[in-house]
Amino acid sequence: MTIAKVVVDVPASQTDRIFDYHIPERFEAAIQEGMRVTVPFGPRKIMGYVLEITDHTELEKVRDIENVLDVTPVLTSELINLGKWMSNHTLSFYISSFQVMLPQVLKAKYKKELHRLTEEELPDEINRLFDGRDYIDFEEVEKSSIKLNRIQRFIQEGLLEVDYQVDSKETKKFETVIARKGSLTNLEEAMIDLPKQATKQWEILKYFSANEIEEVNQKTLLSILKTTRASLKPLLDKGILQEYKKETYRNPYQRDYPKTTALPLTDQQQEAKDAIQAQLAKQEHEVFLLHGVTGSGKTEVYLQAIQEVIDRGEEAIVLVPEISLTPQMVERFKGRFGSYVAVLHSALSAGEKYDEWRKIQRKEVKVAVGARSAIFAPFENLGIIIIDEEHESSYKQDDHPRYHARDVAIYRAKHHHCPVVLGSATPTLESFARAKKGVYQLLSLPDRMNKAAMPEVQVIDMREELHAGNRSMFSQQLVQAMEERLRKKQQIVLFLNRRGYSTFVMCRDCGHVMECPHCDIALTYHRTQNKLKCHYCSYEESMPSVCPECSSDTIRYFGTGTQKVEEALTKLLPEARVIRMDVDTTRRKGAHEKLLTQFGNHEADILLGTQMIAKGLDFANVTLVGVLAADTMLHLPDFRAAEKTFQLLTQVSGRAGRHSLPGEVIVQSYTPEHYSIQLASTYEYEAFFQQEMQVRKTFHYPPYFYLTLITVSHPNQIKAMEVTKHIVQGLSQSLSEQSTILGPTPSPIARIKNRYRYQCVIKYKNEPKQREILKRILHYYESDIQKNDLLISIDLQPSQLM
Ligand code: ADP
Ligand code: ZN
Ligand code: ZN
Repeated sequence: MTIAKVVVDVPASQTDRIFDYHIPERFEAAIQEGMRVTVPFGPRKIMGYVLEITDHTELEKVRDIENVLDVTPVLTSELINLGKWMSNHTLSFYISSFQVMLPQVLKAKYKKELHRLTEEELPDEINRLFDGRDYIDFEEVEKSSIKLNRIQRFIQEGLLEVDYQVDSKETKKFETVIARKGSLTNLEEAMIDLPKQATKQWEILKYFSANEIEEVNQKTLLSILKTTRASLKPLLDKGILQEYKKETYRNPYQRDYPKTTALPLTDQQQEAKDAIQAQLAKQEHEVFLLHGVTGSGKTEVYLQAIQEVIDRGEEAIVLVPEISLTPQMVERFKGRFGSYVAVLHSALSAGEKYDEWRKIQRKEVKVAVGARSAIFAPFENLGIIIIDEEHESSYKQDDHPRYHARDVAIYRAKHHHCPVVLGSATPTLESFARAKKGVYQLLSLPDRMNKAAMPEVQVIDMREELHAGNRSMFSQQLVQAMEERLRKKQQIVLFLNRRGYSTFVMCRDCGHVMECPHCDIALTYHRTQNKLKCHYCSYEESMPSVCPECSSDTIRYFGTGTQKVEEALTKLLPEARVIRMDVDTTRRKGAHEKLLTQFGNHEADILLGTQMIAKGLDFANVTLVGVLAADTMLHLPDFRAAEKTFQLLTQVSGRAGRHSLPGEVIVQSYTPEHYSIQLASTYEYEAFFQQEMQVRKTFHYPPYFYLTLITVSHPNQIKAMEVTKHIVQGLSQSLSEQSTILGPTPSPIARIKNRYRYQCVIKYKNEPKQREILKRILHYYESDIQKNDLLISIDLQPSQLM
């Protein structure tokens, strides 16, 4: 008996195990490990992944696999093992770990159908419903006037059946192709035999013979020859040409990229590349930390290391943060490796993503460039994994499974005996500490290309500006510097940090701030609609004209959004052309690229934007970068606030003076004395590292201690608090003495979507039994979670404590 071990698509803890199913004979030849199947599960039919095929089972009775959904496996055996490891590592369900590895279109959706099981007479109204068909969409039943209990009766009698179909939404795209059937000579002979008046037919054949082509897209052919399908038809009927459907890839990166070749490396780059290459030759796993200031040529090192890997017949994964997966970045990889590159980008449609994924699966590409989830690219001969900007918090998934791409990379690289390269100008304290201890191998690129100097950074104290009577959002120095650039026809990047800084509405009389009634956070003012919106739960209301607390009419929005800066800029520098880049102006597909191209072509003087302009941009003519408020992130309730501020300021400064023109950076701040701002302005990463490590040591934060964040939420505040309290008690009894448990406390965002949120944090150095203990806790609350709307989320090594 052949048995498939299947993980089913029911994310719940009772079903979070492997089920045995019998493989019916008709599937025996076709089924393989890593394929998706449908299986009966209770009364339903659901999707599952075959993890293993064996010939025995402990069970007396097993049910049959219902259907096999794939022709080739969607999971390799390596990815199956990775999924199991990841579930255990992050405490998530097996099914979530496998789902996260695959493109959206493969994640099945269910369609409910009503099947008729009998030829026997059914009442007229039901016959009419089926209208001669064997089965119908259940929606048709719901739309009809037939009462559901009538249907249920026939289901009980076994005359009808409800079935769940897995609708894989697979959106392969096909094109109609016209091809010649015989040889060219045959075709030319056929041309001679054509009747005189069949000029269009003649032209079609002529097109094939003159261009010596085998096949051509039907639409293209018809449009070139300005003819219709009618003239094609006789040629197909006569068997001179044939038509068929051919799968096409949607190609979002269709344009040609100028080919680039390897640059002669600087000594520093060469050293880094040699170290990586030596490891490639040894076929051993190793983690490198490539610490190089912005513009030091890290990307060129990646490119040449990848070339090496391709030459060895192996494959490469390159992770870049979503936000810096800019057209410029794509161009660098496409330019070097052309059609060997698949790009996995969240801006692609689901179908486009699926196409890119399939190129990898079919081994048509060698390099996958993408954001976090590209780490699961189904390559089988990985030669290197590169994680650029390794400090970015977007490498950590915030939802199930809460994996960090760096951990997955290291897991995969161990399996493939290949190196991982982590690159950054501002590595995480964790990584740099590991490199210092020799756990990672440190590679340094301390200088910018061509010894270009890092731009000089001036920190402006905005409090002094205020005391001197300047109430605007631009300091005197920044205004002068901008005017100077405009005169010289140079360009300016203005950066507004939106994190932790909202465009909130406040009454200047009484200080009342407009908050979301469901989330305890300030509402954001949206000028175009004159509305207040909550960014957590999408609640919205219109802008009040008087304060709801004191009826004063001095209520207005506070803080600064990009729109407001844009307005102020236009007043201040009416001659300046401004491009604003934020979520609002880049929502439409391709908008991001278009705005950047415009700025690159000097169609604007100032690029004003949020986080999305902080990284990766490289414009020769930019000589001034202004940071409007540097310390907005410093006051977030997050132990990484200083580190993130340092990283961001360094990144932003890196946008200026990347080429021959020297650059200047002006940073405006309300707390300019803070070490993260001071040391970022002098580019002293090491000094920052030392100082911040002291803080982490004192307060028992990573990398000295590990953290686990447990968040409990429930519509009832008492319930959420009681459960958290109970968890804390349980933990303090079972965890070791050296661990500390903080809490229970309300979460920094104490309420989201009317759910109260409480949290506790475990700080520990070594807790080998922690996962077991946490699993027991989840198990204990299982029925509350299932039936009572309780949510417990556990984040091992959270990226933030929110
Ligand atoms: P990073 O990735 O560290 O920010 P880049 O790889 O983008 O740095 O390099 C900065 C600039 O220097 C780019 O324009 C790049 O083309 C150029 N560059 C990199 N390596 C070399 C080299 N060996 N010779 C000449 N130019 C180089
Ligand atoms: Zn008021
Ligand atoms: Zn809200």
